[in-house]
Parts: sequence; C-alpha cells; structure tokens
Amino acid sequence: MSVSMEKIVSLCKRRGFIFQSSGIYGGINACYDYGPLGVELKNNVKAFWWKSMVYDNDNVVGLDAAILMHPKVWEASGHVAGFTDPLVDCKVCKQRFREDEIDPEKLKIRQCPKCGNKGSLTEARQFNLMFKTNMGPVEDSSSQIYLRPETAQGIYVNYKNVLETSRQKIPFGIAQIGKAFRNEITPGNFVFRTREFEQMEMQYFVKPGNDQEAFEEWKEKRKNWYRALGIRQENLRFHEHQGDELAHYAKAAFDIQYNYPIGWKELEGIHNRTDFDLTRHQEYSGKDLTYFDDVNRERFIPYIVETSAGVDRTLLTCLVDGYAEEELENETRTVLRLAPHVAPVKAAVFPLVKKDGMPEMARKIHQELKKLFNVFYDETGAVGRRYRRQDEAGTPFCITVDSQSLQDDTVTLRDRDSMEQERLPIAGLGHELEKKIRTGE
Ligand code: ATP
Repeated sequence: MSVSMEKIVSLCKRRGFIFQSSGIYGGINACYDYGPLGVELKNNVKAFWWKSMVYDNDNVVGLDAAILMHPKVWEASGHVAGFTDPLVDCKVCKQRFREDEIDPEKLKIRQCPKCGNKGSLTEARQFNLMFKTNMGPVEDSSSQIYLRPETAQGIYVNYKNVLETSRQKIPFGIAQIGKAFRNEITPGNFVFRTREFEQMEMQYFVKPGNDQEAFEEWKEKRKNWYRALGIRQENLRFHEHQGDELAHYAKAAFDIQYNYPIGWKELEGIHNRTDFDLTRHQEYSGKDLTYFDDVNRERFIPYIVETSAGVDRTLLTCLVDGYAEEELENETRTVLRLAPHVAPVKAAVFPLVKKDGMPEMARKIHQELKKLFNVFYDETGAVGRRYRRQDEAGTPFCITVDSQSLQDDTVTLRDRDSMEQERLPIAGLGHELEKKIRTGE
C-alpha cells in the first residue's frame, strides 16, 4: 500500500513525532520540531548511522565542527559564487518557483504552473541559498558570515588536524552529523525539504586512482545500510547524475532514491569529489593540504568520496516505509513497522486490569527493563486500545501482566507485526527482548 503524505503528517502530529515550528504563532514555513517520539526515532537513526560508519569501520573517525565558519570557507568551496537556484516569479499570482522544477513545455511559453497564465513568468535570477548573519556587534559586510549549508566543509578544513591526531593513513574517513541551513525557494513535502535540517556526512580520503573503487564500495555499503534500517529494498534504487546534473566538483555522482508518496526522490548523495575541495582550500588558505605517503614516498592531494544523507529525510523514509493500515475483523489498525532497533519505544508494559496486584507487578517489570532500553508503562483503558496506541507509535513489543502472571511469574509478549502472543518467564525477559531488538541490525 502506498501511503499519502497527509496521513504521515497527521500521524506525526497526533502521536507527537513532528510538530510545525512555532505553531502557537501560526508556524514558520519549512521548519519543524520533533516531539517525544520523533526525537527518540531521530536519535536512534543517528546512533545507528554513527555505529555503522565510525564503530564498524576501523578507518573512519568522528568529528563535530562548528556551524559558524570563517567566511572564506564558502568562497573556497564555491558556495558564495555558485550555491544558487534559478528563481522565477509569476507576475500574476506572485507564486515563486525553481526554474529547474517547471515542466519544460510550460517553461517554453512562460506559463505559470500554479495559475496557468501564459507569459506570466519572469526571467530566472540566481538566488543564493545560504542564510547570512553577522558576527559581532557591527552589521557590515566585513562581519558577514553564513549558517553552513552543508556539514562537509567542516570536515575538509579539519582534515589535517584529524590526520595528525588520529594516526590514520589513507584511505580513511571522517564522519559527522550536524545541522545545515538552506534558504530553499520551494521547501515542502513535510520534512522532505526544509530550511533547517540535519545531515549525516562521511568524507573518505583516498589516493588518486583508487577513487572509483572506493566510490563503488561506499555506494553499495550505503544502500545496504538502508536495508539494515528496515527499509524495503523494492523502494530503494540508484540514480546516476549525468551531464548538467553533475555538480561542478564531481567526477561521478549517484543518488540513493526512495519511492516516496511524491515519487522517486533523493534520499542520499554519493559523490566522487576528486581533489576539488582540498585543492581549493589549499589555494584559499595558503596552507599545505597535501598528504605524504611514506610507503611509496610520494606526496599528493587526496581524492574525496562523499556519502551525504539527510537525517530528517531518513526519518521520513522510515515513517513512510513502515506505515500500514490493516483491516482486522471489525476495525482498522494503523501500524508503524519500524525496525525494532530504531523504534522510539522498544516495549510497553501493561497490567491487564488495574487491580489484584497486576499494576505493582507490571511496574516492577517496567523498572527493570528501563535499565536496558526505552520502555513505556500504561494502565489506562482497555488493553486492546493500549495495543493499538503502541502499534501507531511503532513499539515492537508489548508485555502484559495477567492473572496467570501472579501465579507462575510469566507474562505475555505481543509482537507488533504478527500480533501473536507468546508466554515468557519474567526472569531473563530483558535479555530475550534485547536479542529480538538487535535482530536485523
Ligand atoms: P536538491 O538538489 O534536491 O536541492 P541536493 O542534491 O543539493 O538536493 P545534497 O547537497 O546532495 O542535496 O544534500 C545531501 C542530502 O541532504 C540530501 O540527500 C538530503 O537527504 C539532505 N538534504 C538536502 N537538502 C535538504 C533540505 N532542504 N531538507 C532536508 N534535507 C535535505
């Protein structure tokens, strides 16, 4: 079943995954806040990425660079001159568009995609997507700086620092997760395209000549990562950038695309950036950014293979891919089939009824399991309704204490996806659950 974006937005609001930013003031366009369930999901996605990149690869290390950087960084990177989108306005309905997103047939006759008037579109002007601000009390051009539009540059300018302190040798990678800001002309589709978002980027430094091999290796690794995240393989594909699509710095570029309700769109970019970035930073900073290979006694500027993913877009992908509505006997259930290891809440503990010592026993189990992972306790309403609430939140397991529990120290464990229940002893329950949560990771 393919789910509409409206259903995802509504679930996110209803269950506290994602809210419009500054909602009590009418909201601010293309900025979102993550609620109690959303922040858990986001943290789990980031932690899984970090583990897969940094802990699972001996030659990848982490970094957390500042958002505000020296303004020259953005001159060297090409962002001041070229990080632009072609902006066109409709003179009639005043709507704004990215020229490259308008149907070429309509563009030929300057027909507005919104109001349909012909000849109403202005010529394109290049609009720089970087947010500007000022550092210090004086607001003039000498104090102007930018909110970073990507995390990558923080890695490039630190490449020598990391190299000298971490004892890595080429090939090695630097991974970073952090906020990025882009003054997008046409944000939208919920958290797919926002003006403030988070990126998970890894820059892999290789010897020129070994770049294509590294590129192929990371392409595969990254696609496999989404599978391990629980995303269905049939909803993932590669898209190769060709001709004009290829960025000025890239020798080769592939997107990993996902089949969203709005069509196949980029989820992550994998780029062979050549020696473009380090060459430019060497030129603009006047610092030597070459690498000395002490085995072959040669000096060169490393090539860079980049894997660049969006946290928010990945989270949206998990929600879209996991969302299902199922017809049961006399009701419809909404369920989020999130991979257990990224689910916001791992297990919910319920007493079947609020009497006979069941709540006390359930609370004790809750206390014990809390030491291991995020667990939720709920004793209000019919147990069926409590299961449904957890299904919607993506909680993979529900544990229920019933009258038999009081006699033989067992509980029922209900599986979110199959809705099947098994009886398990309370002793060792945490260990059993941990095993189930890890499966597929
Ligand atoms: P586009 O051409 O669609 O504007 P891009 O190719 O410039 O995007 P990249 O610079 O390659 O995007 O960014 C890497 C990743 O960062 C994207 O795959 C996406 O997951 C995420 N990302 C980029 N821009 C945004 C945004 N405005 N909102 C949310 N995520 C974004």
